[in-house]
Amino acid sequence: MTSVTRFAPSPNGLLHLGHALSAIIAHDTARRNGGRFLLRIEDIDIERRRPEFVSAIFEDLNWLGLTWEEPVLVQSEHFSDYLAAADRLIAMGLLYPCFATRKEIADAADPTKTDPDGAPLYPGIWRGASAEAVGARMAAGETPALRINMDGAMQALRAKRGDEPLTFIEVADDGSEQTITTDPARWGDAVIVRKEVPASYHLSVVVDDARQGVTHVTRGQDLLAATDLQRLLQELLDLPAPVYSHHRVIKWSDGRKLSKSNQDMGLRALRDEGATADDIRRVIFA
Ligand code: GLU
Repeated sequence: MTSVTRFAPSPNGLLHLGHALSAIIAHDTARRNGGRFLLRIEDIDIERRRPEFVSAIFEDLNWLGLTWEEPVLVQSEHFSDYLAAADRLIAMGLLYPCFATRKEIADAADPTKTDPDGAPLYPGIWRGASAEAVGARMAAGETPALRINMDGAMQALRAKRGDEPLTFIEVADDGSEQTITTDPARWGDAVIVRKEVPASYHLSVVVDDARQGVTHVTRGQDLLAATDLQRLLQELLDLPAPVYSHHRVIKWSDGRKLSKSNQDMGLRALRDEGATADDIRRVIFA
């Protein structure tokens, strides 16, 4: 099978060494076995995205010597597709509107219960709300987020698969494969369509990985737990499951995670200091 890999950065900042690792592994995997390497701009976060970060992505990847197929998929041009996928989940009775603010959620949440990202687990404020209560907020001009009813989704999964667990294949650096059993319920009633934009990361990523025929997802280990929720959405939406490789997260020597706001490890800054693409490969594969 020809592998189709992708690099899917969000243009909310400049790329750093962690991005270089994701991009280079995905690129080299495709090149090694005659596959295809795709680039996708994940710019659904319309408040944080900036056009200059999109140009910087192209510039940095070019500098790294990577080439990708055109055209580049730009997520903000496909909101209607993410809504169509959400509509299918609505038709299955698995999404419900939620008007709660971050503060309302934090106040009502059980502090001992958090999702894998450490955010408070949604305490179900709007789950089972009456049509009148929802209608009143809509009439006042408010837009809700749409959350997944996780109990309902797990039931739908059981109805489809019986006792067969929902898994994914994780491919290690040495090529060995491990089957990982997911536990999507630990995300609780996660947001599938955000208030501010008609999509969410989890929804758009599964729609696009399927649309683009991606067979192999390469990304940082910080997204490993997100795979459980994404596998659930794939299964509910009858989308194929790629295999995954979650690589190590590159950190500062004192253990802090690299971030887009802290640009000392940014590719542009390293280039400006005279680093070459070969230097970057040496550092990230050290
Ligand atoms: N757009 C995501 C990010 O930049 C990556 C998504 C993915 O690789 O699944 O963090």
